[in-house]
Amino acid sequence: MTTALQDIVVIGGGINGAGIARDAARRGLKVTLFERSDLASGTSWASTKLIHGGLRYLECADFKLVREALREREILLRNAPHIVWPRRFVLPHVAGMRPAWMLRVGLFLYDHLSGRELLEGSSKLDLREHPAGAPLSSELRTAFEYSDCCVDDSRLVVLNAVDAAEHGAAIMTRSTVIAAEPEGGSWIVRVRDASGNLREVRSRSLVNAAGPWVASVGGSISGTETRPVRLVKGSHIVTRRLFGLDKSYLFQADDSRVAFVIPYERDFTLIGTTDIDHGSPDDETVVSSRETDYLLSLVNRYLKTAVKKEDIVWSFSGLRPLLHEPGKSASAVSREYVLDLDTARAPVLKVYGGKLTTYRNLAERAVTRLQGVLGTGKAASTATAPLPGGDVSGGDFDRFATEMRSRYRWMPEGSLQRMLRAYGTRVEKVLGSSRSTDELGQNFGCGLTESELDYLRQEEFAASADDVLWRRSKLGLYLSPTQADTVARYLGTRLSGPDAGYAHVL
Ligand code: FAD
Repeated sequence: MTTALQDIVVIGGGINGAGIARDAARRGLKVTLFERSDLASGTSWASTKLIHGGLRYLECADFKLVREALREREILLRNAPHIVWPRRFVLPHVAGMRPAWMLRVGLFLYDHLSGRELLEGSSKLDLREHPAGAPLSSELRTAFEYSDCCVDDSRLVVLNAVDAAEHGAAIMTRSTVIAAEPEGGSWIVRVRDASGNLREVRSRSLVNAAGPWVASVGGSISGTETRPVRLVKGSHIVTRRLFGLDKSYLFQADDSRVAFVIPYERDFTLIGTTDIDHGSPDDETVVSSRETDYLLSLVNRYLKTAVKKEDIVWSFSGLRPLLHEPGKSASAVSREYVLDLDTARAPVLKVYGGKLTTYRNLAERAVTRLQGVLGTGKAASTATAPLPGGDVSGGDFDRFATEMRSRYRWMPEGSLQRMLRAYGTRVEKVLGSSRSTDELGQNFGCGLTESELDYLRQEEFAASADDVLWRRSKLGLYLSPTQADTVARYLGTRLSGPDAGYAHVL
């Protein structure tokens, strides 16, 4: 662990903490990030995996949030074309729900609220003729189609941390901050590492980016108050691929909520989400049968072929850490973030709420505010800086993929496609100058080889099988428990943790 005086210690390696560490390190500040488990192991791996303006937030007149999110959508698409990609969403019109004029006005605003250069605008579809109508109930006649983006949420976090480290930040996973005391205008931060050893690091400022744990972590930082947070659980179910078409759907529910149905990985469909108030961040977050029934009955109102419980191969939940807005329902509470800077004893910045989509701007604003009190550091640069592997020539991912296919002709197509999406231009670091799959070492299943595991361990802070199979990839959906165990043994660990349910569904 670094012992020199730090400018910023960041608590939490979710998207907000990793984004702040990256932004600060790029400005030349001395940064250490502590994450008590793996990067993205809190809320950030359990999202709907969208980089979106949030069409639904227009109903709550959250124009500022939607405009910021739409702007960030384009920035992320440019800077990370490997892990962020455009998708068309089909929103069927249903008699008795939101009227067509309202959908049209909403989509007009969505198209025009912020400069849209890369993505196609919205249009109206006749579902009786358009291929998008094929998986849907024949009673549905009209739909509206619009653009948003999908993202590999965990990799977004990891790549921010990698970039932070490449600009000098120390990224300390499996390191829990247990207390912070002000002393002479700076902080003494006490940390317990993976081996149970206690260490101290001194820092000029502190960022509490602990997401759902922001209040409990706040309680261990002396002399500062934390606002109350409302935890709202959102659950997803994953089924085998429900339709071949490369479209996503947005279905309206009677309770005025909406659910996404999105092609996921190569062979699956992701359905979500729910909005349910949750007690403590340390209480188990499992998908309840009530949530499963809710999601199934909602999608089955729209799909021609009913989805059954037996079709579900995996499910997961995450907690939205939202600010309290008394009297509002869980789905109506604003998704906007708040940054509180407290300089009473030593500077501490607290991060509340937020979206994956807006993390970059949140990070830029957070570091600019800290710079104001630290009085040091360069200008922000992340708006135009590609994330690691995102420096694809002209931002043209398809052309890059074609070039790589011809270079690595010997790689099985499915494995290469997965790796190009995961690593972008850094795929060359994983595959090196190899000329055959044999040169990549042992194959643990689905093209996961020793070379890739070594890369993930050395360059992306992976330490366990779950880190590799559920966060830096989703190969956990494909590998058998025996294969996963071989990965764990290669990494020198054992299979464990709540998400060690290797599905081996195909
Ligand atoms: P987290 O990711 O939870 O990170 C906090 C980290 O702090 C954790 O990793 C935790 O281990 C660590 N930590 C806690 N205590 C300590 C300690 N003492 N020491 C060290 N580390 C500690 N946003 C979008 O833009 N698009 C979407 O499609 C989307 N879908 C969502 C769907 C659901 C169901 C949910 C719940 C959220 C969704 N969001 C989405 C919102 C987005 O996922 C969250 O806003 C974001 O991930 C929060 O990130 P975070 O860094 O604040 O928190």
